[in-house]
Amino acid sequence: MNPLRLLGLLLLFVANAVAQNPTPSPTPPLLKPDERLKVDVLLIVAHPDDETGVVPYLVQLIDQKKCVAVIYTTHGEAGHNNMGPERAQSLGAVREMELRHALESVGINNVWFLSGRDTPTQNVLESLANWHQGQVEEELIRMVRLTRPEVIVTWMPGFFVGENHGDHQAAGVLATEAFDMAGDPTVFPAQLAGPVKVNETLLDGLQPWQTKKLYYFPDSADDIFKGTGPTYQTNGMAKMLKIPYWRAGFETFKYHLTQYRTFIEGLKKMDEKQVAEQEKNWGGEGSFVFGKSLVSGSVTGDVFEGITPKPIAFVPPTREAFAQPEALSIELGGPWGFYEKFFRAHGITKLPKAKGPEVAIKRGATLTIPLELHNHTGSARTMTIALKLPEGWTTQSGAGSLTLDPQSDYYWQVLVDAPKAETKERQEIECTATADGKTLATIKISVQLRNGGLPQN
Ligand SMILES: [Zn+2]
Repeated sequence: MNPLRLLGLLLLFVANAVAQNPTPSPTPPLLKPDERLKVDVLLIVAHPDDETGVVPYLVQLIDQKKCVAVIYTTHGEAGHNNMGPERAQSLGAVREMELRHALESVGINNVWFLSGRDTPTQNVLESLANWHQGQVEEELIRMVRLTRPEVIVTWMPGFFVGENHGDHQAAGVLATEAFDMAGDPTVFPAQLAGPVKVNETLLDGLQPWQTKKLYYFPDSADDIFKGTGPTYQTNGMAKMLKIPYWRAGFETFKYHLTQYRTFIEGLKKMDEKQVAEQEKNWGGEGSFVFGKSLVSGSVTGDVFEGITPKPIAFVPPTREAFAQPEALSIELGGPWGFYEKFFRAHGITKLPKAKGPEVAIKRGATLTIPLELHNHTGSARTMTIALKLPEGWTTQSGAGSLTLDPQSDYYWQVLVDAPKAETKERQEIECTATADGKTLATIKISVQLRNGGLPQN
C-alpha cells in the first residue's frame, strides 16, 4: 500500500477512536477515613511508663475486641539513664523504643509521640510553656481527628499533693482542650481542608471529631478520688495473654530499664510463686475520675455506658463566666489560679477538689506563693501582706506593704523557707492581705514536707 495512504488510514483510525472513546476525565475513587486508625479509647499521657497503671484496663478492652491507641506528649527525656550514657534527646529515643516494645508485648501497636519536652517540675504552666502549648495542642487535635476515639482517658489536670508532675497535668489540660476543640470545624482548619494537589503536603483532609466521654486518672492516691468514676477489676485472666490483667501492667513495666534497671532486675529474678504474690502491689481495683460525657450514663457507670457507634455532632463546652476581681483584691495565682479558670472554661464543675490549695515540697526547700493583686479603684492604694507561719518556717521575701497604682493589676510572689526537720503533719501557711485596716483575703496553703520529689517550679 502507498505509505501515504497507510498514514492517512492510521490517522483516520486514531481520529475515530478518539471520537468514540474520549479520554475519560480523572475521577479518583471517594475515600473514607482509614478504618485501621479508628479507636474506642485514646490514652493521652506525658511520658513512657505513664501507661503502667492503665495497661490492665487497656488489655481488658483488647480482649473485648475494642481498639486502643496511646499518645505520649513527650519522650520522657529529662530523666536519668540506668542503662548507658545516652541522655537528653538520645535518652528520649531510647525511651520511645522501650515503650514501643512494652506496648507491643500486650498487643498495642498504635502509639504516637508528640513534640512536647519533658519538664520536671510540678508547675503545669512551665510544662505548657516548654511544650509550646499551641503546637502540641495542634498535634494532639490532629491525632484525635485521625483516631476518632469514643473515649479519651488522660491524666487528671489539677494541683494535688502526690507525684504531681507538671507534664502529667499538662497532658490532662491538652487532652481536655482537644476533647472540646477537635469537633469544632473552625479549630485548625488546615487539618480539615481537603487536598488540592495530587501530592498534598499542607492540607490534612481530616474531618472534625467529637469524642463522647472524657475520663481522668489522678497523679495522687488521695481518698477524694474514691467513688468519682467507674472502677474495674484486675484479677481476671486475660484471654489473649493468658495472664491476670494486673500482670500485664507488671510485665510492660519491665521494659522501662533506663528508668528502673535495678528494681526491674529484681522483678525478673522472681519465680512464679513470687510473681503471683506481686498481685498485692500491682493488682486490686482500678478506677477513673469522671470528667465529661456528651451521652447518657452515670458518673460511676461503665466507661462505655451510653456509647453507641454513631458519631455525634460537635458540642461546644458550656463556659461559666469569669467573675471580675473586686476593685481592691488579692488572689492566689500560678497553677492554682489557672485551674480555677480552666475548669470553668471547659464546663467541668464536678471534679474532686482538695479542701484548699495544697502542695508537697522537699524539707528545707522554698515555697513560692504566687499572688495576683488588683487595684481597680481610681486612686493609689496600700496593701499589706502578712504571714502566719508554723514553727521553723522563715519568710524570705514578699511580706510587707505595697503601693498599687490606680487601675492596675500586678503579679507578686511571697517566698517562705520550710524547715529541714522531719514533720509528719501537714503544715498550714497563712497569708493575709489588708488595706485601710480591713482584711481583703486570707489565703491558706496546706503544705506536706517530704524528703525529695519534683521541685515546685
Ligand atoms: Zn510520667
